Amino acid sequence: MKYDVVVVGSGPAGAVTARFAAKAGAKVLIIERRAEVGVPVLCGEGISRKIDEWGMLESTRWIAGKMEGARIYSPDKSCVKLSADMAGNETGYVIYRDIFDQELAALAVEAGAKIMLNTNATGLIKKKGKIIGIKAKHFDEEIEIEADVIVGADGVDSKIGKWADLKTTLKPKDLETCCQYTLTNTKNLDSYCDFYLGKEIAPGGYIWVFPKGKNIANVGIGILASLSESGMAKKLLDKFIENDPRFKDAYPLRFLAGAVPVSLPINSVSDNVILVGDSARQVDPITGGGLTHCLEVGKIAGEVIGKAVKQKNFSKEFLSEYETRWKDAIGKKLKRNYMVKEILMDMEDKTFNMLADSLKDYKFDELSTFSLLRALVKKHPTLLMKLAPLMKIAKE
Ligand SMILES: Cc1cc2nc3c(=O)[nH]c(=O)nc-3n(C[C@H](O)[C@H](O)[C@H](O)COP(=O)(O)OP(=O)(O)OC[C@H]3O[C@@H](n4cnc5c(N)ncnc54)[C@H](O)[C@@H]3O)c2cc1C
Repeated sequence: MKYDVVVVGSGPAGAVTARFAAKAGAKVLIIERRAEVGVPVLCGEGISRKIDEWGMLESTRWIAGKMEGARIYSPDKSCVKLSADMAGNETGYVIYRDIFDQELAALAVEAGAKIMLNTNATGLIKKKGKIIGIKAKHFDEEIEIEADVIVGADGVDSKIGKWADLKTTLKPKDLETCCQYTLTNTKNLDSYCDFYLGKEIAPGGYIWVFPKGKNIANVGIGILASLSESGMAKKLLDKFIENDPRFKDAYPLRFLAGAVPVSLPINSVSDNVILVGDSARQVDPITGGGLTHCLEVGKIAGEVIGKAVKQKNFSKEFLSEYETRWKDAIGKKLKRNYMVKEILMDMEDKTFNMLADSLKDYKFDELSTFSLLRALVKKHPTLLMKLAPLMKIAKE
């Protein structure tokens, strides 16, 4: 088998990359180790309204609910309310992630890409040190597929990055351990996504409640691996659910566990290889949201790969256009939010309470990170030392 491009992973990053590369004329194959695209779902299923601007999906079958905004609760239950436009990566729609992924994969196929399921990438094929393809196991059969470009869209545990000697290793402080129930028979939910912060509630992370249709909600937790121990995420989530009257008579339809990278941006390109999505650590370090970035960056990756195929140039230098463009698009935001994450990680519950109290009347329709920080420091000059590096980067 010989393709221009083999995309490993049929998640949103892989599907969008494949679609735009195929659209540009490349011969593209997606390989996916699962038996069904998008299944099992490993996601809170929240996505920003930004997705509307890109027109990436034709149908609306993937929408489970439209959100008015987000509420962020501090440990003492002070609440900061944000409109959907201001609420970041995970608020706008709650989606059916399986349908979402399948629609994106279908659009890749429509553009000319092929998909092989039950196909697990097991290694790179190298000739005189040059990457010339991928080894995989298709059901029980060992296969080899030649390709000029290998796209690692293989998620948080990316092997492609490691095999291509890209530095993808995550420190425990840069990894969120997550679990989530989809609960039915919930009560009194409205059209807001709720986030609960605090060292006791979710160390280095948060609990989320995302309403998903009639009396159904995704209720999940993410905590930093460095602040966690075995089984802790589930225990904290169970405790939260037990104490919330909205879930008194609720039962789970689904339980899932997974991980999210919350690190600084990494180098995502080498000769013949590109990483996209979670494998390239393109996740918002504060919210853990990665879906919008997969779409935005996948398009860039596909376009650059299309050009590389036309010009038959698969060198790191040529493919670096992808890295420059994605870092221009989201790199600064990722760096800034990483700094915020570092600050939040060490924050005591009383500081969360103080911040929420200061921000509850803040006019968020004027939100810019710098003006927000300035307002905080004005009210709490003791925070200046902590926030000064962040103010510097936000001002740039
Ligand atoms: C619990 C949880 C909740 C989350 N909630 C949200 C949220 O609400 N909103 C949001 O924006 N983001 C959320 N995220 C993050 C979001 O799910 C990811 O950012 C997104 O899935 C990244 O997409 P991707 O295409 O890079 O990788 P993935 O969606 O992980 O896809 C990778 C694909 O590669 C395949 N694969 C892996 N290895 C191989 C191999 N060797 N061979 C073949 N195939 C392989 C996998 O089977 C998978 O299909 C959440 C994550 C978790 C874990």
